[in-house]
Amino acid sequence: MFYRFVVSCLKHLKFFDETCEICKKEYFFVKGLEDKDGVIIDKNVEESQDKQSVYKEFTEEKAKQLYEKLFLYYLKKFKDEKDASNKAKSIINKQCHIRNIKPWNWI
Ligand SMILES: [Zn+2]
Repeated sequence: MFYRFVVSCLKHLKFFDETCEICKKEYFFVKGLEDKDGVIIDKNVEESQDKQSVYKEFTEEKAKQLYEKLFLYYLKKFKDEKDASNKAKSIINKQCHIRNIKPWNWI
């Protein structure tokens, strides 16, 4: 059970650009993490997403759970707590931005 790939857009660090393919992939990766503990993202998953479910509620509690998952994921990848934490936070930030939520002070 692990991720087939992780994408990370280097052009848009603060938000997901809807017209950017890499951002879209990153968004769906994160969304997969949010929904399940382990998810394999492939084309079918991406294409079956409908717009309605894209911007669902993002509470601080959810953000923290997502942060933990992202942190652990990136810790395995980067082997560095600070890098993992920064990356996880930047993604939470994007999640807030896309929903017009002011990021929490722990971000
Ligand atoms: Zn992008």
